[in-house]
Amino acid sequence: MIHITLRKTSLTNDPTDPLRREYSGWDETASIEDNWKMNHGYFSIGERGDRQQYVAFSYGGKVVMVGRIDRIVPARGKPGKRIIEGAPLGPGEPIWDAFVGKPTPEKAVGVRNPITYVEEGQAFGRQCRCGCGEVVFESDFVRGHDQTALHQRVARIGTIREFLDWFDAIETDGRPTIPTAAATLTATGTIDLTVLDGEVQMSFTPAGSPS
Ligand SMILES: [Zn+2]
Repeated sequence: MIHITLRKTSLTNDPTDPLRREYSGWDETASIEDNWKMNHGYFSIGERGDRQQYVAFSYGGKVVMVGRIDRIVPARGKPGKRIIEGAPLGPGEPIWDAFVGKPTPEKAVGVRNPITYVEEGQAFGRQCRCGCGEVVFESDFVRGHDQTALHQRVARIGTIREFLDWFDAIETDGRPTIPTAAATLTATGTIDLTVLDGEVQMSFTPAGSPS
């Protein structure tokens, strides 16, 4: 998970703050929700951050909050900086109970960069997407199992050639071939609809025109 070391709450003094915060940093008197709002961005978070499920925050040598990461989005007007979208968790959540109140993970102690990565522990990995039941970290698959998952799906259609034919047919036929643009008639008149051998023809005759 991402680990972020916070400093004591202070004024941001930044009128261009994309989160429109007045304060950032850890405020011991504020609620968890308010601390999340003040501290879920923006940071220099690299690609590794996108593979994490959780973010932990430390203040004063111990972990004070753990949140769930939904996605990490660019911070408007702050090149290279990103904002963590998600939500703070709370007591009773296994990942919260495992970390909050405990000392800051050793990997993050004495490090200049406030952003570090720490392992959650075996209990907090996710299941390989191929369905094998193995637990993985920072990845959707055990190495090589993405191929397993892919070929399982191909096999449900048939051979690879049959799969390609099937996929290409969906790609082509799945799109509407009839234009769906709407037209509004404001004149008064008569619409004639003719169906002949599966072909549909429509004509509009304005009222009062010679027929
Ligand atoms: Zn697997």
